[in-house]
Amino acid sequence: MTKVLIYECLDYEAVAPLVERAFQELAPPLAGRRVFIKPNILGPCRPEEHVTTHPALVAAAVEACRRRQAAEIVVGDNPGMTSYGSTEHAARVAGIIEAADDCYRNIADAPQAVRGATARIVELPISRTILEADFVISLPKMKTHVATGLTGAVKNTFGYVIGAAKTQLHACNPAAADFARAIVDVFALRPPDLSIMDAVYAMEGQGPSGGRPRFVGRLLASRDAVALDACAGRMMGFKPGAIAHLMEAQGRGLGVADLARIETVGRAEPITGFRRPPLGLAFTNRLISWLSRIYVSQPRANRRLCIRCGACGKQCPVRAIRMDPYPKIDPAKCISCYCCHEFCRSKAMDFAPRLRWLQALRGQGRR
Ligand code: SF4
Ligand code: SF4
Repeated sequence: MTKVLIYECLDYEAVAPLVERAFQELAPPLAGRRVFIKPNILGPCRPEEHVTTHPALVAAAVEACRRRQAAEIVVGDNPGMTSYGSTEHAARVAGIIEAADDCYRNIADAPQAVRGATARIVELPISRTILEADFVISLPKMKTHVATGLTGAVKNTFGYVIGAAKTQLHACNPAAADFARAIVDVFALRPPDLSIMDAVYAMEGQGPSGGRPRFVGRLLASRDAVALDACAGRMMGFKPGAIAHLMEAQGRGLGVADLARIETVGRAEPITGFRRPPLGLAFTNRLISWLSRIYVSQPRANRRLCIRCGACGKQCPVRAIRMDPYPKIDPAKCISCYCCHEFCRSKAMDFAPRLRWLQALRGQGRR
């Protein structure tokens, strides 16, 4: 039976011995092996914002690998921001470069074109370091996600993809079911061998960047990234089977999402009052999927919070945003991928449910 370990961890000072315990219980010998460690470095966010994996976890994982005499240890991620120097900048602000203690590397520097990995893009640029690693460790953060319900160990592997190709994957897969398949296409390239989730502080509400930090006081660990996320989803209050990409991964034999087939060791009960993304955003279960045929939830810049930085427009995969002088969204182009929400550092992107047919009419009226 697939096993997920859940440790009580009341603050980040207590992380290191628990990570060591997870290695002792779940990791094979690592002597002489090349290890890749993948934290979630979504963007240039300070650790106390709880958007990125806490550096204490990264430091503990590096130390555990050194203790086991790994031949090579690389820490890295491909954040969503794609301008020159932005990868290192994000890692520095998130405290990851310092925590990685000389093991941090900009993994975007060594791309490998992988053909046929996903249906709608011929070649995906993937960081070669990951594909060549003997052992991959995923260090996700427990967070909600307005498009996929939750982001965890499986979605963390989306960062294998370098730069703008990530936005292309969004643009080519506007429907929720297609995007779930695309997430799993990337995950399948190299499922992690060990995943340890930072749930000391999680993010609830409108994650992965615009939600609120929420103290949970736990670390989750498993060899099976899908099972780890399924347990995290239950703790966050999602119904079994509600997260489309986990069901897709289970369907392809890449892990276990069925809670009845997962042995949990530790407190796995749902967290009281944990706020999931609002209805209409995480359109992952059947009912919401049906509603999403009628309603579409589209972003709208809140002028009280917007600083007119233009970052949302740069991240939009279909160029649906123009600055005038605040962001204006073309409803006919928008595919509701929520990248603009994810990368707005001012939390200025709100959402408004709109009738699809009305949006279509508006779009046609402007042509
Ligand atoms: S990223 Fe946010 S703050 Fe910047 S222009 Fe867009 S909505 Fe405004
Ligand atoms: S406007 Fe925002 S939600 Fe719409 S396609 Fe662009 S990035 Fe995605």
